[in-house]
Amino acid sequence: MPSFASDFDEIARALEASYGGPTPGVDAPSGSFRDLLRVFLVEQRGGQGGRVIEGLDRAGWSADPGALSGADAREVADALRVGGGAKVPEGLVAGVKRLAAWVVGRGGMEGVLAGATEALREELRAIRGVGAATADRLLRDALDRPAFPVGRADYRIMIRHGWIDPPADYDEARSVIEDAAPGGAEALRRLGSWFDRLARPCRVSAPQCDRCPLQPFLPEGGPLDPH
Ligand code: SF4
Repeated sequence: MPSFASDFDEIARALEASYGGPTPGVDAPSGSFRDLLRVFLVEQRGGQGGRVIEGLDRAGWSADPGALSGADAREVADALRVGGGAKVPEGLVAGVKRLAAWVVGRGGMEGVLAGATEALREELRAIRGVGAATADRLLRDALDRPAFPVGRADYRIMIRHGWIDPPADYDEARSVIEDAAPGGAEALRRLGSWFDRLARPCRVSAPQCDRCPLQPFLPEGGPLDPH
């Protein structure tokens, strides 16, 4: 059975033909502390995360990790409330403050940007509230590192095509994707935006393969069972 790596160029061509080139909003990050916070907030709060960051901008915290890490949690919670909306979960406030403290511990964003990707991944995963996929999203989308955050839908696609075996853990799946995609963080962001779109036809219950650009890459006999 062809591997993800051996078919990668054709897969990328098929996805580009269906979904187009780079998606707005997945541009190269600036490597700022604000980018790090924004990506974390979007990961935690979905589309609202992009607005939530504005509260931290107004307080001056999105540019000052030292001030944010030492700020009163209630004041940070107030800043994170969008338009005076629902109460902000304590875990989100704590996560934002821990991320800021990590940056401070590294000597600021210069120290973060100077770190090796594997070391940064390990340190990010060690922050309470930052899981493996969140760490990789921070690496790729905020720090411009060649990382791929593997979501459940990505994992399902990889298994259905036989590109990974069901017992594969998170890091195995991540490596298969990262190793196949040349072009570093930018190529992986692009691939990520395509995979996000594949989640629509590749439903949990019944994949709609006849409407999907990856149909030509299915194993003989159709998609494999991800369970
Ligand atoms: S819908 Fe079918 S062809 Fe498309 S990614 Fe899922 S399993 Fe593959």
